[in-house]
Amino acid sequence: MGDIVPKIKVDYIPEGNQNRPGTKGDMQWITIHNTANPNSTAQNERDYVARREDNVGFHYAVDDQEAIAIIPEDEVAWHTGTREGNRTSIGIEICESGDQKKTWQNAVGLTAKILKERGWKTDRIRTHKSWSGKNCPRKLLDQWDEFTDDIENALEILKNEDKKGGDIMEKPEENTLAPEWKLKGIQYLQEKGLLYDIEGWTEKVDEPMPVWAVTLLLKRIHEDLASKDDKKTSSGE
Ligand SMILES: [Zn+2]
Repeated sequence: MGDIVPKIKVDYIPEGNQNRPGTKGDMQWITIHNTANPNSTAQNERDYVARREDNVGFHYAVDDQEAIAIIPEDEVAWHTGTREGNRTSIGIEICESGDQKKTWQNAVGLTAKILKERGWKTDRIRTHKSWSGKNCPRKLLDQWDEFTDDIENALEILKNEDKKGGDIMEKPEENTLAPEWKLKGIQYLQEKGLLYDIEGWTEKVDEPMPVWAVTLLLKRIHEDLASKDDKKTSSGE
């Protein structure tokens, strides 16, 4: 991924918050905004959505440092001034603070990432203005073609990286946990006091076991059974 996609911090506002209706949308578009606030950072924007009580929300805020996921992409957020836009588009607020060149790049990377994940092309990107007529994103309307061209290029690079095997950062995290049935034996033996290094065993659950380890474990189990037999005998059961 190199530098194309910015760091994305997931910091959703709580379910039940005034500005998170929680209803599922039918996402078809990405709507681009500017914050119209020269001072606020992505974190400020996120906290602003969490705090306000006037039905304002968007899915991401991005500044020169990072992107913050504020509302899950599949949920409705109130950012376009239209019912249709809110129901069908993912809202990205682009901050006007800090290094605007870097912010531009981060916004391009974030947008390209979402397009790639959804198998969308750049014709899915829209301005806030296209919904409601509002002068937004106010700093990008003049440079809209350049902005979407950059996203197109970033999208191509991301797709090519995928073809080459991609970057580990972009792949969904592998589930490293073994299925439960594979761990049953380990858990049982631990409960019985016959296995100790549970994390080690769990990590190596799919690895072959050397003969010495198998035999030592069997020896331990045998001794355990034998000692129980002894107790039974001595207590006369
Ligand atoms: Zn807007």
